[in-house]
Amino acid sequence: MSVFSAASFSQHELVTFGHDPVTGLKAIIAVHDTTLGPALGGTRMWAYENEEAALDDVLRLSKGMTYKAAVAGLKLGGGKAVIIGDARTEKTQALLEAYGRFVDTLNGRYITAEDVGTSPADMEIVRRVTRHVVGTAEGGNHDGDPSPATAWGTYHGLRAAVQHRLGKDSLAGLTVAIQGVGHVGYWLARYLHEAGAKLIVTDLDAKALRRAKKEFGAAIVEPRDIYAAKADVFAPCAMGAILNDDTIPQFKARVIAGSANNQLAKERHGVALRQRGILYAPDYVINAGGIIIISHEGPGYDEQAAFDDCAKIHGTLATIFQRSDRENEAPHVIADRIAEERLETARKRLAPLPKRRAG
Ligand code: NAD
Repeated sequence: MSVFSAASFSQHELVTFGHDPVTGLKAIIAVHDTTLGPALGGTRMWAYENEEAALDDVLRLSKGMTYKAAVAGLKLGGGKAVIIGDARTEKTQALLEAYGRFVDTLNGRYITAEDVGTSPADMEIVRRVTRHVVGTAEGGNHDGDPSPATAWGTYHGLRAAVQHRLGKDSLAGLTVAIQGVGHVGYWLARYLHEAGAKLIVTDLDAKALRRAKKEFGAAIVEPRDIYAAKADVFAPCAMGAILNDDTIPQFKARVIAGSANNQLAKERHGVALRQRGILYAPDYVINAGGIIIISHEGPGYDEQAAFDDCAKIHGTLATIFQRSDRENEAPHVIADRIAEERLETARKRLAPLPKRRAG
């Protein structure tokens, strides 16, 4: 398996493979960039088709974390880890402890957290053997669940997008179509309802839908009908790649602002949205509340301060939208540009001064 010539390899600082013969642990940790601080990123446990797919995922996701932390203005770098295996059948306490020992070998250059296939409870087990883990109940926030903070940041990002595209300071009377009312979507629905927005929701889970209807008076539609819903804003809070050739022509909403990761099927779909006059809030900027609250963890954790920082996503996105207009580029291109500029500035600061010639 090639690493340096892999398609997703992008100047990563470190890629390390961990194996524990006793528990069968097979894991990869990728540290993409630590210019701004130690690399933070979750642990994904997934039954990858093969090792190349696992490597591709960890390389891609760790780079994404560098950009996310940089745009959020955090003193953190980007990293990610994958454990190869089925989280439902192969995850044992011993395996998680072996994984924790693997994380510990990096001495804090990589800090782990939960992700798909791992939970805050799993991270409590990892914490027994390494202190380089966040997102646990012990850390102080919401029993380790970052979702309310992610939703709070998404809510403020959505407000910024509405202000920019629709010229409205208030959400009262506007209609938001939410795809997925799970952990984040539920909290987003709650914040939007409190702000006076009308809601249209969809989900595969009937219980989640009943709750949204009962608590927020949300109208319910079939999953396939959410894209064409008569709404001002579409808030994707379920899965990725939902902005594609098939869905983009269906949108009536002029704003897309939601928490889901990897919303654009391809980069070009961000450009297509802009051409149709739909303002897209780049996913990794608007959903950074989870990483922001995690960055607040530790002794003296102050929930109010953490949530206030999540709300600053409003200002971050307002700047991105203004630059997008000025530089005539789609917002997701501007977001990447801001991340790269921040990294470049920090790298220059870190670079040693040129030596002066004697005499
Ligand atoms: P979740 O699994 O709790 O909720 C997702 C919901 O979407 C579920 O209720 C599910 O039934 C529903 N769903 C799945 N497929 C659907 C479909 N085809 N149509 C309609 N509904 C569908 O997940 P979550 O933690 O709320 O995360 C939502 C999204 O936000 C994910 O993309 C996640 O990666 C992203 N995200 C979450 C956080 C966080 O703090 N939890 C942080 C950053 C990004």
